Amino acid sequence: PRRFELITLGDELLLGLTANSHLTFIGGQLGRRGVQLARNVTITDEAGAIERQFRESWAGADVVITSGGLGPTCDDRTREVIAEVLGQSLVFEPIIEAAIMERFNRFGLKTLPPNNLKQAYRLEGGDFLPNAHGTAPGLWFEEAGKVLCMLPGPPNELQPMFTEQVLPRLAERGFLLSGEAYVQLRTAGIGESELEARLQPVFDAHGGAGEDGPLSVAFCAHAGQVDCRLSSPSGLLTSEQLQAIAAQCEGLLGEDFMCYGEASLAKVCVDLLRAGDKTLAVAEAGTGGLLTSEFGEICGVAKCFLGALVCNSNEAKVTLLDCPECLISQHGAVSAECAVALATGVAERLGADYALSITAFSGAPCANERGNEVGTIFVGLHAPDGVWARKLSYPGPRRTIKTRAVNAALDWLRR
Ligand code: ATP
Ligand code: MG
Repeated sequence: PRRFELITLGDELLLGLTANSHLTFIGGQLGRRGVQLARNVTITDEAGAIERQFRESWAGADVVITSGGLGPTCDDRTREVIAEVLGQSLVFEPIIEAAIMERFNRFGLKTLPPNNLKQAYRLEGGDFLPNAHGTAPGLWFEEAGKVLCMLPGPPNELQPMFTEQVLPRLAERGFLLSGEAYVQLRTAGIGESELEARLQPVFDAHGGAGEDGPLSVAFCAHAGQVDCRLSSPSGLLTSEQLQAIAAQCEGLLGEDFMCYGEASLAKVCVDLLRAGDKTLAVAEAGTGGLLTSEFGEICGVAKCFLGALVCNSNEAKVTLLDCPECLISQHGAVSAECAVALATGVAERLGADYALSITAFSGAPCANERGNEVGTIFVGLHAPDGVWARKLSYPGPRRTIKTRAVNAALDWLRR
């Protein structure tokens, strides 16, 4: 197999100011096409660091991808340093200059800042990848069967460039699988060891899930969801056979099966609502709008996701959602009664078929005045045939409690 290395540049990554999303993105894209990154090295923007790392990676890898440092400023040195290591001169490319100029014109600038001119250069023996979302083009270079690909740092520039230009080029050269390298089953509401036990009969029927069998199985758990990835690194199973095995797994999982691939719980809910021509409203307290924001990730959702209220104060619950004041004083705002009142209130106010509510105590590390421990959550579900509440309790830091509460609410709706 060919060795792929990713060099991510940026002091902000090493200082922990920016999460290295290029690893997640490029690693994920390649993984799906049967290539596992051999390694990712993150280095500073400094010329010496770029030179050292590039030399080492270029000597040992078949494909080297770099990200960052193609900008117009003096701290952007990737292009120049790497050209030097490769003994390549940089040649001016009028097509790139014209593209940058056109971009500046669109933003009302008439002349090209001199700094940007350095972005109009490519390696003498190489090629460039047009950038539809920024000024710096990507750079491409091949030598003795090896590929070098330099990509701009901003994720909104790198990501489309990678999927639209880099992946097809790598595929053309036979560096990637033509189809999907694995099938992923996504589940919700079931733990990973239980999931493995439930699927074991399927794995056994296909020679086990061991490292040297035809079938390889990997689990990945995240906040109430567990993914199970089926692949065949040995190539003994075709992707059709993997699909068929996945279908058997799906059959064993019943309602715990959520989807294939990586759709979010909110997306799965929206698809179900759309299919049934039904609508949803949301009321949440103590989760800071996290449930609502899950729906903001989905395009064109307004017809089925009617709206939401983040109602932290009791006054908001009472005046905006008709939650009776006496109910709150009797049972507390973090209670089953309140969850039911919020779900009903928001469903009626917005005229929705379904409503979800969350009222969570995810705050300070002590019990609140009603003896609710941190991590105590009530989820309410209003449906055409009734309204219910459930008590949940999660340990962990605030963010985890909130995410699990949101996932539990969506999973309940989905079923
Ligand atoms: P620019 O023209 O913006 O200077 P560039 O190609 O020089 O682009 P950088 O300066 O390294 O790239 O990074 C630009 C932006 O992209 C920064 O905001 C940076 O935080 C972000 N970025 C760079 N690398 C990563 C990464 N690995 N993951 C997420 N964001 C990144
Ligand atoms: Mg830069």
